[in-house]
Formats: sequence, C-alpha cells, structure tokens
Amino acid sequence: MQALRSRRWAVSWPADGTKSRERQFAEEYARYHDVPYCVSVDHGSSALVVALEALDIGPGDEVVVPNLTWVAPVTAVLRVGALPVLADVDPRSGCLTPETAAAAMSERTKAIIVVHLACTVADLDGLCAMAEGAGVPLIEDAAQAHGAQWRGRKVGTFGRIGAFSFQVGKVLAGGEGGAVITSDPEIHLRAQLLRADSRRYADGPVPVAAMELRPDPLVMGTNYCMSELTAGVLLDRLPHLDDENAHRAKMADELSAGLAALDGVGVVPVPDAVDLRSVYEFGVRFEPDTFGGVPVERVAEAVSAELEMAVWAPSTPLHRSHMVRPETKRRFAAVWTESGRRRAVGRDYPGAERYRETTVLFYHRALLGDEHDMADIVAAVGKVLTRRRDLIG
Ligand SMILES: *Cc1c(COP(=O)(O)O)cnc(C)c1O
Repeated sequence: MQALRSRRWAVSWPADGTKSRERQFAEEYARYHDVPYCVSVDHGSSALVVALEALDIGPGDEVVVPNLTWVAPVTAVLRVGALPVLADVDPRSGCLTPETAAAAMSERTKAIIVVHLACTVADLDGLCAMAEGAGVPLIEDAAQAHGAQWRGRKVGTFGRIGAFSFQVGKVLAGGEGGAVITSDPEIHLRAQLLRADSRRYADGPVPVAAMELRPDPLVMGTNYCMSELTAGVLLDRLPHLDDENAHRAKMADELSAGLAALDGVGVVPVPDAVDLRSVYEFGVRFEPDTFGGVPVERVAEAVSAELEMAVWAPSTPLHRSHMVRPETKRRFAAVWTESGRRRAVGRDYPGAERYRETTVLFYHRALLGDEHDMADIVAAVGKVLTRRRDLIG
C-alpha cells in the first residue's frame, strides 16, 4: 500500500530521496543469498536473457539446457540469437547431470543452464566440477528452488549467475517478477544496464526530484525493470520464505515416509548435500507397472479426483513440446536451420521420457497443510493403487 500511495510506480521516475523498492528488494535478496549483487527484473524469463547477455552470449554460440523444464531456458537462449542444445536428464530427479550435460557440449558451448527442478536440486558438486573443467560458465535457474541450500550455501550462488522468477506460482511470489544474483561486479554492472535501457544506479546518495538511474554507454540494454508495486509485495513476502520452506520441508518428510510404505511408490529423490529443501511442485514417483501400465495422466486424474486437488503429469519433454516452435518466428530462422535443429534436439531422451511416465506432481500450497492433510494425500494415492484395475480401459 505504501508503494501504491507513493505514486512512484517505476524506478524510472523522479526519486523522493529514498532508494526505489526494486533496488531495496535486490539488496535484500542479495543479502538473503550472502552474495554482493542482485538485479531485479520483470520476469524470470528476462532474468535468463539478462544472464546470457551479461555473459555476452549470442549468434554462433550454443548453450546446454535441460529438456525437462519450463520453456524459458530454451526461449531465452533463442532470444539472444544462440542455439539451445537440449540435454537429457536424470530419470528420477528430472535434473541435468554432469554426464548428460557433457554429452550435449561442443567447442561452441558458451554456457550451461541447470534447473533445480520441482522439489530437488541438481548435482551441484558434479556440475560445478564439470563446468569448471570445461571452462564453461554455469547459470543456475533457481526459479523452482528459492531458499534451498546445498552444503550450507543457497542455490543460485554456485553458478556464475543465479536466475529467479517471482511469478505468482513460485514459492516467493510477486505476480510477475525475476532477479539475477552474482558475485561478479562486472556482471552486476552489465545486468543493471541490460535491464534498464543502458542505465545504472547513480553513485552516491539518491537525489531528490532527479532520476535514480544514469546512462552508461558500456552495453546497450532494454526495459526489463521490475514494477515498484511488485517490489513492495516481494519486500513483504521475503521475510516469510524461510518459515514457509521449513514447514513445507517438514510436511514433505511426512509425505515421503507415508508414500514409501505403499508398494512400488516413492518420491523424487533429494541428494544428501541438500540441507534445506525448497518445494515448488512435490513429485510422487512410481514404477512403470505400479498402476498397471496406464498412462501417467490417468493416474494423476484419479489421485486428483480423490483429493479434489490439482495433480498433474510432468510437462512434455521440450524436444517434442508444442511450445518450442522456433520455426514460427522469422527472427530464429538463422539459428533454427535443419542442421541447427538436429544439433539442438536430435538425440534420444530416455531419462526425460522415463521421468515423465513415472511422476505426478502437485503444488507447494498443499504442503502448507498439517499432518492430517499429508495422511489424506497418502491415503488417496493408496486408494488409487488398490483400485488400479479400474484405471485400465
Ligand atoms: C517459472 C520459470 C521460469 C520463468 O519465469 P517467468 O517469471 O514466468 O518468466 C524460468 N525457469 C523455470 C525453471 C521456471 O519454473
């Protein structure tokens, strides 16, 4: 309400002598991650574009992306004129592994985007070592893992750049929004310019009645600025993130224990190195024949009907998704040639297909309930399991 009443709804507006809210949020979010720098942006998708442009990635370059996630990593790479090369994922976690990433690399690879998917964290020890050995920067897309920790350190701080979304569905929600974090001062400066039409914060105190942002010719940007109203919401929400994550982690343990008691049912594995969990979508896993071999959509539908709560199958692997169609835009013609397309998606994806056939997901909101709610979820999966014959036909 203060942001609304301030009438300063955008960072590009005469300042009142105080820092813009999007800047205050960036400072809080950097502190939360124990890194020196963060830049707020308007979407998680823009955060990925800014990350790639901050690394000066463009035409002729390749970027390795996992083929089982939201489309944004793929579209972001296309938007900077580079070729997204889709790598397979681990069949149980749905995440990139050092091996699947390495198999998609070439001498043109200029970055690897790793996604910490749904309710787990990719193998950061292995991926950091592999990327460092290859001399290729890692970009962490942590849009589904705000606040998760790997060996005592927040995810998003292991790569050269961490990218986040604050879209309404994420565990830190502001409607639409995003951010990049880094420990590299040059990337911080470039990211400021890239998201605010070639402007950065002026040095020294914030001027009264003048602009907080000043032009800098180092690199040309565009407008990916976060609204002041969004920043106001996020400044209010951030202090609740750790408590909500802790509650969801506790309920996730309850659920995991309950589901493990069912024959052929389990959960998406979380590596031991993860000492704080963040759950965006909780993943229930099963063996292909657990439910009599019926399509995963039928299993999701049946559990959903028992609970009167949305439960869904993972999205289609991106190499055959209707949402990845660069051929429909002329600006991608130079990169999405026949040979480009073959290079991008011309391999098998057994890991992604297996994950997709053997996992059902539901929203983090369900984990804000109590032990009784978790028991209901376990009972619903158990009921569908005993009546699996009804799913056939
Ligand atoms: C949501 C999401 C994004 C995109 O964020 P938007 O704010 O919707 O643009 C990117 N990557 C992943 C993994 C996401 O889940």
